[in-house]
Amino acid sequence: MAWVFQGNPNRFDIDDYLSRYTQLIYWRTNRYVKDIAVGDPVFIWRAGADAGAVAAGHVVAAPTPARSVEHPEALGDDLWVADEANPDELKTGIRLHEIRLDREAGMVPRSAAKENLVLGASTIITVPNGTVFRLSPIEFGVLEELWGSPMSLATSSGAAEGQRLLRAHYARERSPRLRHDKLCAFRKEHGSLFCELCGHEASAHAPEPFTDRAFEVHHKNPLASAAGPVRTTLNDLAVLCANCHRAVHANANVAENFKTLATLYAVGR
Ligand SMILES: [Zn+2]
Ligand SMILES: [Zn+2]
Repeated sequence: MAWVFQGNPNRFDIDDYLSRYTQLIYWRTNRYVKDIAVGDPVFIWRAGADAGAVAAGHVVAAPTPARSVEHPEALGDDLWVADEANPDELKTGIRLHEIRLDREAGMVPRSAAKENLVLGASTIITVPNGTVFRLSPIEFGVLEELWGSPMSLATSSGAAEGQRLLRAHYARERSPRLRHDKLCAFRKEHGSLFCELCGHEASAHAPEPFTDRAFEVHHKNPLASAAGPVRTTLNDLAVLCANCHRAVHANANVAENFKTLATLYAVGR
């Protein structure tokens, strides 16, 4: 069976959760507890003003009380805005394949689902109160099509897993929230922005929107964390100029490339 798990940003900081915990997430589950099974495909749906499907994945752990989940560090308990984390609440473990937090990244906005003949009649559109929604096979097929990459491709072979991790890596780097926080923290610490590899510095006189555009954040250890779910912190991110960032991503050996370039530039300086 296929599911939609909904989150309300007024109650839980879903964007922060999805951009920082890309290995494994847990979702509050108060319905269909007996029906949700390992392997079921899942879409994560953001409620509110910018509603729609923002992530896709599959179930890796059937609903379990929060107090006894395998990776409590991935619960994101500190991200509750209005409610308190409840240890008795059931949580479904979900492995994400893709995170698309805004339209630019390819989220499926509620308006697009609503316009669709099939999805327009589904409960996530017609009765959008609640956390867990069941998708009929047809509804799932349509949503998968709107999403634009078949989830069946994104299961667990080695190559697919590498792909998944790489996509999670890009999602994190594109997350406007993480990017903004990192650039602010960097500016605060160093007084200005510069590339951590080549040292390229933004003109001190250029106003922020221009300098910010010239820098990107890079996740230094993208593929190494497969062993367990770890929250991405600002220390995991580096500020790079667009040129160096492109060079770092010249091939799949991202962590290697970063070290090699860092050594080259350190010698040159
Ligand atoms: Zn650079
Ligand atoms: Zn990068």
